[in-house]
Amino acid sequence: MGISPILNLIRGGSAAKRLLFASSSSSSLAAAAYVNVGIVLGSRSLSSSSLVGHTTTTDNNQNHNHHNHNQNSRNGRWYHSAGAGLPSYMRAAVFREPNKPLALEEFHIPRPKSGELLIKTKACGVCHSDLHVMKGEIPFSTPCVVGHEITGEVVEHGPLTDTKIAERFPIGCHVVGAFIMPCGNCSFCSKGHDDLCEDFFAYNRAKGTLYDGETRLFLRSSGQPIFMYSMGGLAEFCVVPAHGLTILPDSLPYTESAILGCAVFTAYGAMAHAAEVRPGDSVAVIGIGGVGSSCLQIARAFGASDIIAVDVHDEKLQKAKIFGATHAINALKEDAVEKIREITGGKGVDIAVEALGKPKTFLQCFESVKDGGKAVMIGLSQAGAVGEVDINRLVRRKIKVIGSYGGRARQDLPKLVRLAETGIFNLKDAVSRRYKFEEVDRAFQDLNQGAIVGRAVVEIM
Ligand SMILES: [Zn+2]
Ligand SMILES: [Zn+2]
Repeated sequence: MGISPILNLIRGGSAAKRLLFASSSSSSLAAAAYVNVGIVLGSRSLSSSSLVGHTTTTDNNQNHNHHNHNQNSRNGRWYHSAGAGLPSYMRAAVFREPNKPLALEEFHIPRPKSGELLIKTKACGVCHSDLHVMKGEIPFSTPCVVGHEITGEVVEHGPLTDTKIAERFPIGCHVVGAFIMPCGNCSFCSKGHDDLCEDFFAYNRAKGTLYDGETRLFLRSSGQPIFMYSMGGLAEFCVVPAHGLTILPDSLPYTESAILGCAVFTAYGAMAHAAEVRPGDSVAVIGIGGVGSSCLQIARAFGASDIIAVDVHDEKLQKAKIFGATHAINALKEDAVEKIREITGGKGVDIAVEALGKPKTFLQCFESVKDGGKAVMIGLSQAGAVGEVDINRLVRRKIKVIGSYGGRARQDLPKLVRLAETGIFNLKDAVSRRYKFEEVDRAFQDLNQGAIVGRAVVEIM
């Protein structure tokens, strides 16, 4: 059964639907078509044009559905089974050009494809990587929906999604998403190196799409495609490849847990895979924002001995102690490298982490480590920025300079959830501010002004 007979059947109303359902079990191909169409029918809001590329908008029943949407959301339930009862459109925060405010715009409800899940977004963290994009410091396809640190509820499985994935993520389950969403099949993913996933970088970071080269986001008014930074998490719904998700237990709240997917995930990747922190190691962290303060907590969880926080804001340094810092250095008042050497008996730390992405702190990080030590760089910088190090020291004293972008979603994210669940990672204190969805632009303004101690989260409920 091809696509056009299916569309005709959709247009044909309920008698045709019964016909379709009755005939759909005759072969596996028909069964596949049944799954596909069943979901489309269930959503009610999608016109047939949505199936063939979102080129037009038919909104005859939009008002009706919008009414339902409000009513259902007040009751805390928007849907009951795969695709059924979804609202007809959603809002998402669109970035169009540098230094213009983020605006909430209306979109069609995104459609997941095979191996992808549709998530009702509940919360999304406010991260510097989005800000880099919004300031034009990191090139990215525009216009796009930013936000890459989400929690939410699974509301739909993409058609033909593997049954094991569907069983692992049943409709209604709570999930947290990693910002690096592994494809699961490329040469890196097949070795478990999800953090280097070829498709993620080739399609998402380079083109703003998912791994078939297409976005899932289309404006309600014009059908215009809008690109996605990771899953485009600052939206009421988002599509996420299933390998980028893990189950969030009921004991963990949506808002605080959002930071697991980037701030904590990035810190864990740096500490577990790049630095390979061992009990008793001394660790210095330069830049105590959302990621840096997560590094302190992970270092503590891994049994680091001296944990030295370096920043230029006393307020952030004060809070660093809650997260495990044994020493705090204000780099405006003291020479950070000298002070780190003093604390470590003149040697330097086993591991230093740079979480700012500035050439000056890149060098500080390198200079803070002991002979044979590891300087781990996790702060993104303006495109093209160059960090310098002393070549002879690097060579003679076997210093390792290691870059790390994030963790490995499939293996690490479930562990982070366990660390949070058992209280070893303190989520509650790590999230210092909450914003309403309507305040999303102000959240990024505050981040840009350094006014956020720890991590802010936008609640999208
Ligand atoms: Zn981030
Ligand atoms: Zn991959």
